[in-house]
Amino acid sequence: MAVTKMRAFWNERVSGLAPYTPGEQPRDRRFIKLNTNENPYPPSPLVIEAIRRAVDDRLRLYPDPECWELREAIAERFGVQPEQVFVGNGSDEILAFAFGAFFSDKVLFPDITYSFYPVYARLWGVPFERPPLNDDFSINPGDYTGVALNAGVVFPNPNAPTGRGMDIATVLSIVTARKDRVIIVDEAYAMFAKENLSVVSSVATYPNLLTVHTLSKFASLAGLRVGFAIGNEGLIEGLCRMRDSFNSYTVDRLAQAGAIAVMKDKAYYDNVTRKIVDTRERVSTALSSMGFEVIPSDANFIFIRCPSLKGADFFAYLREKGILTRHFNAPRIADFLRVSIGTDSDMAAMATIATIGC
Ligand code: PMP
Repeated sequence: MAVTKMRAFWNERVSGLAPYTPGEQPRDRRFIKLNTNENPYPPSPLVIEAIRRAVDDRLRLYPDPECWELREAIAERFGVQPEQVFVGNGSDEILAFAFGAFFSDKVLFPDITYSFYPVYARLWGVPFERPPLNDDFSINPGDYTGVALNAGVVFPNPNAPTGRGMDIATVLSIVTARKDRVIIVDEAYAMFAKENLSVVSSVATYPNLLTVHTLSKFASLAGLRVGFAIGNEGLIEGLCRMRDSFNSYTVDRLAQAGAIAVMKDKAYYDNVTRKIVDTRERVSTALSSMGFEVIPSDANFIFIRCPSLKGADFFAYLREKGILTRHFNAPRIADFLRVSIGTDSDMAAMATIATIGC
């Protein structure tokens, strides 16, 4: 039967979905892959070893649905209580649960931000507004603090795809202005910031603050699918209710074993993160001096504009030369590309080819 005919079986809900488009995972050709903010370095050897050790006949058994051992390891690493930690199948899953659990009448997020947010808002039928970023792509905190707004808030810090970070005092000014609403701070890229901008240590103070984290970026584990959230016990319980109304076993045994090992090898990951930050700073300076516009980044990617090519043409040119980046055909950012930070040699190749083309 033709696919279009089979679509006749869709109900209104699925017909009305507007799904997210993830970055391309090429199968046919080798690229320098700078399009999905993966980490160019391998996970800690302790993580690989822990996953290997978990491959045995215990796979017969369901994993711990509450992920207690992992929650304890995360709690110890981040100086919080295990009851303040939720673990999910990637942070996308946690964001999906959080939108469903905590937002109802309205949610605010910037006009330029992670493009999954409007997808989740539509999925749960939550109306949203998108205050515009300032011209330099910074968030205007005043857009989120008005008492009359009556809305939840979510934003990444640093923001994606711009890479711009917001300092802790400014984030907390939003959290404290709206004590009656949940504020989700998506800290997917916070480990790569020049100065600490994480508000994790404030979750005990602000019951309306939920921070969301992922092992896909700093921990080199995009393939394992583990994310976690830190917040007040009440918010964590809300997320558990969502999970247990959907799929109680979202994080498998191997993922739990690997993620526990991440929390125990801070030294390895601090070193990897430092290398990525150094590479980012070097390539940002080099591209700026060659005439590219480079938005100052606190993340493991940079947002750049070629002085002579339209964004879509710059993207196509790099792709043709074997370099995969991310282009968002959206207002205000259509001439920019988001380029993930790879190894020094990946980035040197990218910068040389970009400079020739621009
Ligand atoms: N938040 C932001 C801002 C992201 O860019 C991403 C990665 N696409 C995620 C969350 C989701 O990451 P993951 O599901 O791999 O944990």
